[in-house]
Amino acid sequence: MSKQPLLTLKPGREKSLLRRHPWIFSGAVKNISGNPAHGETVQVVSARNEFLAWAAWSPESQICGRAWSFDSNEAIDQEFFVKRFEQALKLRQSQPALKETNAYRLICSEADGLPGIIIDRYDNFLVGQFLSCGAEGWKEAIVSAAMEVTDCKGFYERSDVSVRGKEGLIEQTGLLAGEEPPELIEITENGIKYLVDVRNGHKTGFYLDQRDNRAALKGYCDGAEVLNCFSYTGGFGAAAHVFGAKKITNIDSSDTALELAARNMELNGAGQDDYENVRGDVFKLLREYRKEGRKFDVIVLDPPKFIESKAALQRASRGYKDINMLGLQLLKPGGFLFTFSCSGLMTQDLFGKVVAGAALDVQSDAVIIDRLNQSTDHPCPLSFPEGFYLKGLVLQIPEK
Ligand code: SAH
Repeated sequence: MSKQPLLTLKPGREKSLLRRHPWIFSGAVKNISGNPAHGETVQVVSARNEFLAWAAWSPESQICGRAWSFDSNEAIDQEFFVKRFEQALKLRQSQPALKETNAYRLICSEADGLPGIIIDRYDNFLVGQFLSCGAEGWKEAIVSAAMEVTDCKGFYERSDVSVRGKEGLIEQTGLLAGEEPPELIEITENGIKYLVDVRNGHKTGFYLDQRDNRAALKGYCDGAEVLNCFSYTGGFGAAAHVFGAKKITNIDSSDTALELAARNMELNGAGQDDYENVRGDVFKLLREYRKEGRKFDVIVLDPPKFIESKAALQRASRGYKDINMLGLQLLKPGGFLFTFSCSGLMTQDLFGKVVAGAALDVQSDAVIIDRLNQSTDHPCPLSFPEGFYLKGLVLQIPEK
């Protein structure tokens, strides 16, 4: 037996680990011995003392352990992270969408066997979030493995996320290795250019998970009037311009996001007549547009995560229903609605029901013509359905 601390589960509580689900809930623990420090690797065994996993210890969280490995012979060390990173890089290098971009999620937490670790690549810079005690404890090894495997110029930390509080960790940002990234990093995806502010932007700077869905706009935008709601820095807006839209309206509540959206529109050749940026509340503005009788050929609804807890699900559903009703009413006959939900708590099934309810209430006979997902660099293990969170529907209004 190794000298590593030992976490013994209650009888019958080994089932999820045997199915390769990486979380250990505190209620499943019978005993923890060896006095592990925060983030230290513990050996997890069943009540019958059978090996289950090597896991990182997070004593303050309800998820008190996250499995690094289900292989009893695997050591959790610097070499382990190098191996995992090489595997993650290889997976993405062979994905078609990623041949057209220099920005992608390199490490997607549980999906890459690395719970609590998010690392995004923007050109030659890495931006990371360390979300668990295990990730925090191994930070130095993780950063050096990531730099070694990718040969990037610098690694910047954006661990300014509230979930760290649940782990007893404070928020942190700053340079961890190599050079400081420039104020704005230029990235390209599917022939569209974007400037990304990795220091102040949302998450690590950009919504990489929507890449494939931005690409999905192609073919729908020729000569179209496009309404891009919750535009952030103009992700869908710039794509719509490149894909031939006549006029794009970007709406967001944030001035900073819209300033960068303007630069991104112009970086892709859009002039003053090709787009307008409107600062305001989508819920209010869409009502105004409805009153004015404005109509669009293509509408994108990509709201932020309205739902932080199960209790908030009902209220959030009303929010989703509201904007989808408005979206459907603002479409021209034959028009297309790209509608998304990025909340994991809103299942695909429930989202479909909410959108159907919206259509029913506004007497729209819209039909579903496509279903969209998070981009391929945000994979989802079959053993970890929680990893699936971003879903979208493309609806069309039949012309009569
Ligand atoms: N579609 C974007 C990402 C959207 S993120 C992309 O592909 O990059 C959600 C955005 O909604 C944020 O920029 C936030 O500022 C904005 N937002 C949140 N609530 C809003 C509201 N009520 N009205 C308008 N914008 C809002």
